[in-house]
Amino acid sequence: MPGTVHVIGAGLAGLAAAVRLAGRDASVAVHEAAGQAGGRCRSYHDPALDMVIDNGNHLLLSANHAALAYLAAIGAEGRLAGPPASEFAFVDLARDERWTLRINSGPLPWWMFDPRRRVPGTRVGEYLSLARLLLASDDSTICETVACAGPLYDRLARPLFVAALNTDPKEASAALAGAIIRETLAKGGAACRPLIARDGLGPVFIEPALRVLVQRGVKIQFGHRLRALDLEQSNVVGLDFGEDRIALGADDRVILAVPPVVAADLVPGLATPTEFRAIVNAHFRLAPPAGLAPIIGVVNGTVEWLFSFPDRLSVTISAADRLLDAPRETLARQIWDEVATIARLPKALPPWQIVRERRATFAATPAENAKRPGAQTAWSNLFLAGDWTRTGLPATIEGAIRSGNSAADLVSNQGMR
Ligand SMILES: Cc1cc2nc3c(=O)[nH]c(=O)nc-3n(C[C@H](O)[C@H](O)[C@H](O)COP(=O)(O)OP(=O)(O)OC[C@H]3O[C@@H](n4cnc5c(N)ncnc54)[C@H](O)[C@@H]3O)c2cc1C
Repeated sequence: MPGTVHVIGAGLAGLAAAVRLAGRDASVAVHEAAGQAGGRCRSYHDPALDMVIDNGNHLLLSANHAALAYLAAIGAEGRLAGPPASEFAFVDLARDERWTLRINSGPLPWWMFDPRRRVPGTRVGEYLSLARLLLASDDSTICETVACAGPLYDRLARPLFVAALNTDPKEASAALAGAIIRETLAKGGAACRPLIARDGLGPVFIEPALRVLVQRGVKIQFGHRLRALDLEQSNVVGLDFGEDRIALGADDRVILAVPPVVAADLVPGLATPTEFRAIVNAHFRLAPPAGLAPIIGVVNGTVEWLFSFPDRLSVTISAADRLLDAPRETLARQIWDEVATIARLPKALPPWQIVRERRATFAATPAENAKRPGAQTAWSNLFLAGDWTRTGLPATIEGAIRSGNSAADLVSNQGMR
């Protein structure tokens, strides 16, 4: 690969592509519009809390092999924290019930047959029926494929699918849900261990990557927003950043790792997802009480997942468009009320912050999923990456990293022809 590969966007997709290519001694330049890297997966200093927090809690599972390989490539392996086994604590707020789901590690799912391991009130047949999602057609929704009622749905399937797809199961793609089941539950507990970046998304996923890139001579420019691509019939011939312009030679390549609305603006005729779903996170500054599980799934509440960090409690609510216009203080009080019940804490509201990501992910409906393009474009030196490209997964860290890897591999393979 004698030319330079220009990676546009330093979210996880762009960083994964840059890390992979720099590891192959390619000449790489990264251009990021914002003043920092990480995109939708970032840490920042929050003035209201006077502490560094993440824009949102990010849950990974041990099945996320590309994410784990990326962490190894940037020297951050072992930086994700989680229980040694596949255990998920749950609270049902309406029934004041608590249980821990314990998935045995091998592929033979005997945990479903053990009432102390499975979800209380569920039957084995309900679990087996989820296998229908593995064969689902591309145009069906989850609720057209499996029963969206009953204890297993309310207490496990719904929380799992809403978290993974960020879309209500009534309208979410059964095929994408099937991909999640195939890579996790169907493989057994060894693939389902929950993992979080306890030290923060920036220190675990982003800063080590930037260090590796700088060490390998990659030039990273922040505040460098791509305004237009100069496109000729079969090639990109220039990058227009407004104040400066880069002319591209025949051996140069471009990986566009920007969000779908930006990509659609830059690339004529590109079809992308156009519908999005929000995620709301609430952060509370206080040390969690001793013995509180690091991740708790919540049923029958506004809170969906509660994460404990050493210095704060953080709540995630997915597919949360209904909460976008709620007054911040009302929302903080409502959420804290539930957190106080779950963690058995006083009802007085501690310092708080609400972070609402309006376009957290594309809506994982069959129609939006069908609009996702592959990594190749009509221009031979222009490639796409991002969680919204055709990865076969919902919009996740794992999908973003796989998309960056695929774009990097296409660039490398082209160079070898
Ligand atoms: C609140 C929240 C919670 C989430 N929770 C989870 C979770 O629990 N588990 C999970 O796996 N995933 C989760 N996700 C999804 C995950 O964060 C994303 O899938 C992933 O970060 C997407 O990475 P990306 O590189 O594809 O896109 P982005 O992160 O959007 O990166 C695109 C980058 O391009 C830059 N850019 C835009 N325009 C230009 C331009 N013109 N020129 C140059 N640069 C440009 C942007 O500034 C950005 O840095 C969550 C997302 C959010 C928002």
